[in-house]
Amino acid sequence: MSELDQFRTQTRAWLDANCPPAMREPITADDMVWGGSQLAFKNDDQRAWFEAMRERGWFAPGWPREYGGGGLDRRQAQVLDEEMRRLHCRQPQYNLGIWMLAPVLLKHGTHAQKLEHLVPMAQGRVRWCQGFSEPNAGSDLASLRTRAEPDGEDFIVNGSKIWTSYGNFADWMYALVRTDPAAKKQAGISFVLIDMQSPGVTVKPIELISGKSSFCEVFFDNVRVPRRQLVGALNDGWTLGKELLQHERAAMSKFAEGAAPSLDPLASVRAWLAENPGDALAPELRTRLAKLLMDAQAFALTHRRVTEQALARHDVKGPAAIMKLVQTEQEVAKYELLADALGQRALVWEDAPSTGLEHEVDRGWLLSKTYTIAGGSSEVQLNIIAKRVLGLPT
Ligand SMILES: Cc1cc2nc3c(=O)[nH]c(=O)nc-3n(C[C@H](O)[C@H](O)[C@H](O)COP(=O)(O)OP(=O)(O)OC[C@H]3O[C@@H](n4cnc5c(N)ncnc54)[C@H](O)[C@@H]3O)c2cc1C
Repeated sequence: MSELDQFRTQTRAWLDANCPPAMREPITADDMVWGGSQLAFKNDDQRAWFEAMRERGWFAPGWPREYGGGGLDRRQAQVLDEEMRRLHCRQPQYNLGIWMLAPVLLKHGTHAQKLEHLVPMAQGRVRWCQGFSEPNAGSDLASLRTRAEPDGEDFIVNGSKIWTSYGNFADWMYALVRTDPAAKKQAGISFVLIDMQSPGVTVKPIELISGKSSFCEVFFDNVRVPRRQLVGALNDGWTLGKELLQHERAAMSKFAEGAAPSLDPLASVRAWLAENPGDALAPELRTRLAKLLMDAQAFALTHRRVTEQALARHDVKGPAAIMKLVQTEQEVAKYELLADALGQRALVWEDAPSTGLEHEVDRGWLLSKTYTIAGGSSEVQLNIIAKRVLGLPT
């Protein structure tokens, strides 16, 4: 038996012994465990699974042990991922820091920065948020205006960020700030790490029509950020920010995939068709259902192929934009199909009587729309694909 096969056998046995059966059920948004100083468990199974994985360093299986990771090589990390999927193990914690910031820190951070930030991340002790978007800088991110001015050993940060997911629970923020207002806009930006407890940071939650708002506005009023929290070179933040967005796009399809919604729209359409076989809309809905099922299957296969390519260190920047676009638009189409099947029943709002399905479909549809915007809107992904994948003139 090869060493990798041995590792697979041992990993499978360990997961089977340590992942409680309840942690193999599909997860809903309310059941997700987020690391950080406000870490909370709903039950003993969640805690046991979290602690078992943390002790092995398997929140970040591929990182060096020195930084709190599991020290696995790429193939072993892939085996762990496969075995977790096989047993339907939940993600033991959700952590934007591990998925998005860490790859950038591993590549560009100093040893001291890695020790300071990766170790607590790998232990689930710190929760991160992303401070990129501003009121007039979303798709056109390079227009951001939050300033960081040098002052001795610190920067003084002034300005504001918007749409900061989970800003109200985060311990730290990775942010893009303007450090050279005179330079061409992409050239004057730096990537800094900001302690959310710093004096002068104010966080205000924003309500959303989907009912499940994670959004916040974050205001900076003369916030002191030590210069050692600058990642990469001064004014080189744009390069790092672009890299991070690629990791975000990859993480988003992982996020959506792990977070099985409490409602499976296509299964609900199937059930509806079984109950209403003679409905005038049934033939059209059946055709759309078949197409979406095939699309989902094609997406799953492509996802596996791209994961393999990434493991083999191929450049997957283009595919990441394609995957993000396709996966998020497919989710919207699934909810729209179910809404069309339910007809007026899909318009039922919170306080109206419902079987439960109606409430979930409209909330789910609204939520699915947000993923077509987060991490770069569908239109922006199309631009990226046109430019970087197809090489079309701009
Ligand atoms: C669920 C969710 C979570 C988010 N979390 C965070 C977070 O944690 N941190 C953070 O910093 N930001 C976050 N965002 C913000 C997100 O990055 C921005 O909303 C996104 O980049 C779009 O920017 P905008 O909202 O300013 O829209 P705009 O940029 O104003 O775009 C408005 C419309 O114009 C279109 N458009 C813009 N430019 C072009 C173009 N060149 N070509 C064609 N069409 C164009 C867009 O597609 C969109 O339809 C989040 C957003 C969502 C929905």
